[in-house]
Amino acid sequence: MKPIFFTPGPSQLYPTVSGHIRRALKDNILSLSHRESQYQRIQERAVEGVRTLLSVPSGHAVFFVSSGTEAMERTIQNCVEKRSLHCIQGAFSQRFFATAQDVGKQPESFTVPWGQSYDPSSIPVGKETELLCITQNETSTGVSIPVHLIKATKKRNPNLLIAVDIVSSVPYVNLDYHAADVVFFSVQKGFGLPAGLGVMIVSPQAMEKAAHLQKKNVSIGSYHSFLSLAKEASVFQTPETPNVMAIYLLANVCADMCAYGIAKIRKETEKKAALLYRAIEQHPALSSFVVDSSVQSHTVIVATVRGESGKLVERLKHDGCVIGSGYGKYKQTQIRIANFPAHSPTAIRRLIRALNNG
Ligand SMILES: *Cc1c(COP(=O)(O)O)cnc(C)c1O
Repeated sequence: MKPIFFTPGPSQLYPTVSGHIRRALKDNILSLSHRESQYQRIQERAVEGVRTLLSVPSGHAVFFVSSGTEAMERTIQNCVEKRSLHCIQGAFSQRFFATAQDVGKQPESFTVPWGQSYDPSSIPVGKETELLCITQNETSTGVSIPVHLIKATKKRNPNLLIAVDIVSSVPYVNLDYHAADVVFFSVQKGFGLPAGLGVMIVSPQAMEKAAHLQKKNVSIGSYHSFLSLAKEASVFQTPETPNVMAIYLLANVCADMCAYGIAKIRKETEKKAALLYRAIEQHPALSSFVVDSSVQSHTVIVATVRGESGKLVERLKHDGCVIGSGYGKYKQTQIRIANFPAHSPTAIRRLIRALNNG
């Protein structure tokens, strides 16, 4: 049997991807000039696909960059003169904070222990805070911030810019984009696509901030500044030669997911997550790392393993189920299981049987 990848990114490819790749080759998509109208139609389909699937407001811009990590840097450069505020709850929120330091800002942070959550709406925001950075689904720990708390945060602080990293919860996460100014993801996780593309959804408020910073002679970056991206996006192009294959695949997989139904994808994700958490609870050697069930991620499930997690990962691999090890300091003691739209209920049941086999 072919192995199934339950790794939290890159992960199992969405089932329609191989057909789309074959068609891209057959139709010579990869030799097209990115200044041609045939290319522009591909980018337009990708943008419209993202808008429709995720219900992005028409006033928000959709930009393509190279990765989730790049999106962190672009967010900071375009929305922050000096001070961003970061809630650090694991490795990816830590990276967002470190990115702000690396580009010369003076970010502030508060930290909660790995595996725990926080309420973004109760964070005291200082007068100087320009951007609040939230990692909605912390892939290193399996903690998910409830989206209604993000909405409440914007309501309490309407003038504060809010950035939300949804790299490992998209397209499952049902975010209100009116309550966020920069939302970003890459495609090798929940979209089940090859790595190499980042997507940014940017509010008019965030665009204004970028323009304001540029006017003040604060560097907002070069070819991937929001202003440069917006100029090209207005004609469905990018400043550089983009990852045409990835944009083509995204357009097609968005259409496939829309046809399948986002509501159905979300409901199935919740059902599969419930199966996984129950299997973990009932397993003699496993326990959920995230204790508070209201913040347990539905898309990245993290369990602590009694004994060595490496042995379990190897045994499951032998059974055709490739799962993730723990992240960083938890590499030896935890496992991480992705529950993305590419993982069918049948695949999840196969993984649970394999888990229970040992
Ligand atoms: C994977 C991940 C990233 C980094 O994305 P890349 O595309 O690998 O740069 C950022 N944030 C979160 C939450 C992630 O899971």
